[in-house]
Amino acid sequence: MIPFDFEYYRPDTAEEAVSVFAELEAEGKEPVYYGGGSELISMARVGSRSFGAVIDLKNISECKAMEDRGNGFYLGAGLTLSDLVEWNGFPLLSKTAGRIADHTMQCKITLGGNLAATIIYRETALPLLLSDAKLTFAGADGFKEYDMDTVFRERLLLPRGEFLAGVMLDKGFFSLPYFHEKKTKNEKIDYPLITAEGLKKAGVLRIAFSGLAAYPFRDDKVEKTLNASYLSPERKADKVVKHLSSVIQSDLSGSAEYRKFVLKETILNILDTMKGV
Ligand SMILES: Cc1cc2nc3c(=O)[nH]c(=O)nc-3n(C[C@H](O)[C@H](O)[C@H](O)COP(=O)(O)OP(=O)(O)OC[C@H]3O[C@@H](n4cnc5c(N)ncnc54)[C@H](O)[C@@H]3O)c2cc1C
Repeated sequence: MIPFDFEYYRPDTAEEAVSVFAELEAEGKEPVYYGGGSELISMARVGSRSFGAVIDLKNISECKAMEDRGNGFYLGAGLTLSDLVEWNGFPLLSKTAGRIADHTMQCKITLGGNLAATIIYRETALPLLLSDAKLTFAGADGFKEYDMDTVFRERLLLPRGEFLAGVMLDKGFFSLPYFHEKKTKNEKIDYPLITAEGLKKAGVLRIAFSGLAAYPFRDDKVEKTLNASYLSPERKADKVVKHLSSVIQSDLSGSAEYRKFVLKETILNILDTMKGV
């Protein structure tokens, strides 16, 4: 049971959502935008989050859209992970979505909710970071588009009152060779000990991680090391582990030392898989 009362709004347009948010904020109701509600509701139940109103984004057309737009493909932030799995237009994104939680939860969790989540993993950020995606924010001035790497730094940098309407993907990335390795402590369906995923663009390997640090990330130095032709795979893996050692986290899923061991094995495996493609 949720131990407090809250109001529920389901606006039909982005303008309405933003203005309802502003009104509720002015009334001191601490509104939140609502995607699938999985995180908001579970946190509210255990008393770690409270709000006086939720603004459900599901009726807003820009949040529900899935549109081919020439060289780009637009995905609304209100699409669920199972919508992304079914679509499968960008296999790396669909694979990522299909490895988050179980099928029942995938039908609830939204792309926007995963990217804006408090929980540290935000795994759908990885294919978006790797493919130079653009994010559309909705605010008082309408819609604005930003490069993923300027508005997603460890977490989504949304100004208060704005929400994520959707993401624009460059279709040129859809058919590139990719890898996705999610290591969990016990079960296949679990939070990641490490998720490493990447793709190869014009012979250059890109890689992004979740679970390794307290946030999802890409790192220039790691990618330069992996692409250095003069280094052996073993040397590359050691250098990557050394370079990332200050951000590698310890938690209930595994110690930093264990994560370093898994990271090295994962890098060697990826280098081997991707060498011929
Ligand atoms: C069993 C289980 C297993 C999980 N495993 C993983 C995992 O392995 N990897 C992983 O990455 N995640 C995992 N998650 C976390 C899950 O992805 C998050 O709970 C999810 O991100 C919440 O999505 P939602 O749509 O339900 O968001 P909500 O609960 O609706 O919202 C979450 C947060 O995002 C904000 N928000 C929602 N939509 C928007 C928007 N469009 N614009 C701006 N802000 C918005 C809300 O205000 C809230 O702060 C798991 C969750 C469960 C329940």
